[in-house]
Amino acid sequence: MMRFLAVTTFFLLSFQAQAEQTVVLISIDGFRHDYIELHGAPNIERIASQGVRSEGLIPVYPSKTFPNHLSIVTGQYPVNHGIVDNNFYDTERKQRYKMGDGVKDSTWLTTLPIWNLAEFQGVKAATFFWPESEARINGRTPSYYFNYSTPAPNQQRIDQMVQWLKLPEPVRPRLVTGYFSIVDTMGHRFGPDSHQVEKAVKHVDKLIGEFWQRIQNEVDVPVNLILVSDHGMVDIKADAMIDVSTFPIDESLFETVNAQTRFMIYANEETTQQQIDDLRSQLGAMADGRYFIETETSLTQLGVTDGPRTAAIILGTQAPASFTSRAVEQRRDGGAHGFHSSRDMDGLFIAAGPAIKHQANISRFSNIHIYPFMAELLGLKLMTPIDGDGEVLAPLISSQFTHKN
Ligand SMILES: [Zn+2]
Repeated sequence: MMRFLAVTTFFLLSFQAQAEQTVVLISIDGFRHDYIELHGAPNIERIASQGVRSEGLIPVYPSKTFPNHLSIVTGQYPVNHGIVDNNFYDTERKQRYKMGDGVKDSTWLTTLPIWNLAEFQGVKAATFFWPESEARINGRTPSYYFNYSTPAPNQQRIDQMVQWLKLPEPVRPRLVTGYFSIVDTMGHRFGPDSHQVEKAVKHVDKLIGEFWQRIQNEVDVPVNLILVSDHGMVDIKADAMIDVSTFPIDESLFETVNAQTRFMIYANEETTQQQIDDLRSQLGAMADGRYFIETETSLTQLGVTDGPRTAAIILGTQAPASFTSRAVEQRRDGGAHGFHSSRDMDGLFIAAGPAIKHQANISRFSNIHIYPFMAELLGLKLMTPIDGDGEVLAPLISSQFTHKN
């Protein structure tokens, strides 16, 4: 009897140990899918060789930082998680959203981020930055988080993440997120091929390498590292910029948001369909191949549906063009993202750890599928319908770690 109990207990304990996986999700903002080869990132390359690397991570439209970070942690298209661009207007609320406004008013977010899902099911979450992770969504924040108002040094983020993973079991988070912005910042200023981006890539690569090493040396729990980026980067040219002040827009009828790679025109309540149509044809007539007007069909393909945050008229363009309100002498060449999906807009996806198979590269996939993958690794049940599909990344999980029957 004792022997039976001992064996059973051992079996249960080892099963539990297997089930209790930890997930660390780190985003390197603006890290294009090919930067590992282009700029040299030996540490990230080594981690990829121990797990899985995707040929690219397809961003949601628009390929901007906030919509994509939220899609990664919610499994939803922007129209469904609420953060449809870095800056946008809501015709019902009659308010403008700008990056991070969810912290003051979390009703901007209309879904359940992975840290909410975890905390609701008794799994602690910790975020050393992730867009909107400080927001009290559905009445909860992660157990541990930091305000982005005074961004901390990158080394401090690594140290803190390691420290969280070494906490005693009752207070230790099993979901940890990290975020680095330097690669994106340099990409905007100097373009994706620049020496400055190379330097930033090498800086972050060193930090990630150190983090991975310390997980192996100092941390007892099984940690699965998921490295992602929100989007890629492409060159834009000062002489190809489109001056938005030349658009014949009546400000008493329309609210506008210049999102650099697209230009959004929202109709006011009193604005008639005829006035919208007139403006659309005027803008069409003066486009001259520099920009295009999104159609209902193109928007549907981009996952955009009608709603108070969807503009009545959306102008799009292609690199090296972009929309600007700057005077000619203030325009600079540089890098941008936010365009329709293309290889240049693809981000990074790498996963490695005890629950992840060692596998050759996998094909590119949309970032909305990462949420159900993380939920499965953590043993969390989805609580709301999502746009992502758990089947896409399910083959990456070693069979003994799946929670499905
Ligand atoms: Zn950016």
